[in-house]
Amino acid sequence: MRKYLWLATVMALVAVPRPYGAASSIAYRFTIPEPQHHWMQVEATFTGIGAAPLELRMSRSSPGRYAIHDFAKNVYDVHAVDKDQDGRELIIARPDPSGWTIGRHGGTVTIKYKVYGDHIDGTYLAIDTTHLHMNMPAAIMWARGFDDAPATLAFAQPSGVAGRAWTVATQLHPGATSLEFTAPNLQYLMDSPVEFGPTVLRQFTVGSRAFRVAIHHTGANAELDRFVQDVERVVREEGAIYGEYPEYDPGTYTFLADYLPYADGDGMEHRNSTVMTSSASILSDRAGLLGTVAHEFFHCWNVERIRPRDLEPFDFDRANMTGELWLAEGFTQYYGPIALHRAGLASLAETGHALGDLVDIVTNAPGRALRSAEDMSRMAPFVDGGRTIDRTNWTNTVISYYPFGGAIALALDLTLRDRSDGRTTLDDYMRAMWRVHGKPGGSREGYVDRPYTTDDAQARLAEVSGDAAFARDFFDRYVRGRELVDYVRLLGRAGFVVRKRQAGRAWWGDVPIDSRSDGAHLAAVVPSNTPAYAAGIDQDDTLVQIAGERVTSLEAVNTVLSRHRPGERVTIVYIDRAGASKTASVVLAENPHVDVVAVEAAGGSLTPAQRTFRDRWLKSQQ
Ligand SMILES: [Zn+2]
Repeated sequence: MRKYLWLATVMALVAVPRPYGAASSIAYRFTIPEPQHHWMQVEATFTGIGAAPLELRMSRSSPGRYAIHDFAKNVYDVHAVDKDQDGRELIIARPDPSGWTIGRHGGTVTIKYKVYGDHIDGTYLAIDTTHLHMNMPAAIMWARGFDDAPATLAFAQPSGVAGRAWTVATQLHPGATSLEFTAPNLQYLMDSPVEFGPTVLRQFTVGSRAFRVAIHHTGANAELDRFVQDVERVVREEGAIYGEYPEYDPGTYTFLADYLPYADGDGMEHRNSTVMTSSASILSDRAGLLGTVAHEFFHCWNVERIRPRDLEPFDFDRANMTGELWLAEGFTQYYGPIALHRAGLASLAETGHALGDLVDIVTNAPGRALRSAEDMSRMAPFVDGGRTIDRTNWTNTVISYYPFGGAIALALDLTLRDRSDGRTTLDDYMRAMWRVHGKPGGSREGYVDRPYTTDDAQARLAEVSGDAAFARDFFDRYVRGRELVDYVRLLGRAGFVVRKRQAGRAWWGDVPIDSRSDGAHLAAVVPSNTPAYAAGIDQDDTLVQIAGERVTSLEAVNTVLSRHRPGERVTIVYIDRAGASKTASVVLAENPHVDVVAVEAAGGSLTPAQRTFRDRWLKSQQ
C-alpha cells in the first residue's frame, strides 16, 4: 500500500508542468583526477528548473541493449549545490535506487558525483590511464522534464598521464573548443558515446558523405590503412543495398574502435556512430573485426532509422521490449556476411558457413517448438543481460533473435528471388522499409517519426512482392508462427547444398561436459531433443561409463561414441547429483548438425541457372 501511495506522489511530481522553454539547459563537465583508479568526477549544472523539484536519474537501460543494467550502482559521493545561493549544499532525497530528487532549490542546481567504470564494451563506462571510453547512460545523470533541453559537454585532460594529449571522437556536435561538444536533446545525448584518448583518426568520403574511423589500439598503425580501405568497401557495398546513405546529423559517421587486450568483445550501434571493441588486434582477427563493421554499419539504417515503434523514443527508466528484434537485429545479422561477400572480403566457403550457422540453429535448436521469432525478440530483456544467478532452461526454450532473424532474412531473400526469377529481392524490401519508415526522419534530431510495427513490416512485403496473400502467409508461418522454410530447395537454386556436418557419426546430443577424476560431469542443461535427454540424465549428473568403458572427459566420451553407429543402443552408468548410482540406455542418433556448402565444393557441378541466381545474389551490387 505504501508503495502505491509513493508512486502516486511521484506521478504528481512528474505531472507538474515545468516552465522550461528555451531557458533550460544542462552543462556537463568531466574530469579524471585518478585514471588508474577508474573513476571520473562529473559536474552537471541544470539551469531553468522552475519551481518544481529537480528529479535526477541514472539510466536503468541503454539504447541498443535490451536488459536492465542499473547504472546507478557505480555512482557515489553525490552532492548538489545551488550556485545562485553561494554554493549552499542542497538536500537530496532518494525516491528509488536510480533517483536523486532535490525538492528545494533556486532554479539552478549543480550536481557533483563520482562514477566508477572499468569495462570496455558498448554498454558500460571504462576509465584507465589509456582512455575514457564512455557510454552515456553509464555515466551521466539526466533530469525528468529536460528531454528537450540542449546540453554542453566539456572534457579535461586527465591527470598524470604521459604521452600525447587525448582527443575526443564522438557523434556529438563540436563545440567551442576541441574538448567541448553539444547535444540538442536527451535522446541524442544518450545515444552519443565518447572515446577520449590517444586515438588514431582516418577519414574517407563516399559521394557527399564523410566517414571517420577513430581507433584506439595497441597494434601497428601500418595495419590500419588497409583495414580502413576494407571498412570503406563495406560502407560502399551496404550503401548500394539502400541506394543512399542517411543524413548523418553532425555531417559525418564515426566508427569508434577500441582494439585493446583488456577490452571485451562487442559492437554497439548508434545513429551516427558505432562502438566496436575487441581484445583482438587487426593483425590477429581482421575478418572478425570486419564482420562487426559490416553488422554495425548496417544498423545506421536498420534499427537506428528503420526503427521498431516500441523503441521510439527510448525509455531509460525500464527495459525496452519489442517483438521486432528478429528484423532489427536478425536481418542485420544476415546482411553482415552478405555485404562482406559482395565486397570481396569473404570467400564462398566462409559465406556458406555463416549461412549454415543460421540454418543449423533454426533446424536443430529445441526452442523453435516453443516460441516464434516475435516471442524470442521479447526475451531480449532477459537474455541480453547475459548470465543470471539462478539457472535457466534457455538451452531448450530460447533461440537468439540474431540467428533466428538471420535465418528468416535468408528465407525471405531466397523466396523473393525464387518466386520472381531474381527480379525482387530482400534488398528491395529493405529499401521499401527505408523509404517509408527511415528516410522521413524525425521532427527532432535523434527521433524517428515513422517507426514500424510487425504489421507495417508485413505491409511493406505485400507492396514489394505485389502479393498481400504471400506476405500474410510468410509472416504467419515464419514470423508469428514457428514453421521452417525449405532451405534445401531454396539454397539449391543458388547452387548450395545443405549437408550434415558429421554424416553417419553416432551422436547422443551436444552435452556440455567438464572433466573430473570421478567421471565426466554434465556442466549445463542437456538439450531436450537429444538421446542423452531421453535417457534421463541432466545437469550435475556425472557420467562414469558409456558402453562399458570408463570416461572422465568429453574427449573420452567422443572416442567411445566414434566406435558406434547411429541406431545402436549403449548402456550408460552415471551418478546423479544426490550421489545415487544409476544405469540407463541410450539409443544413438546421427549427428543432425548441418552446414551450407557450394555444390562445386561438395563434388557436384554448378548449372548455368544456379550460377546466374547466385551471382545476382552474392556479386557486388555497386
Ligand atoms: Zn546488432
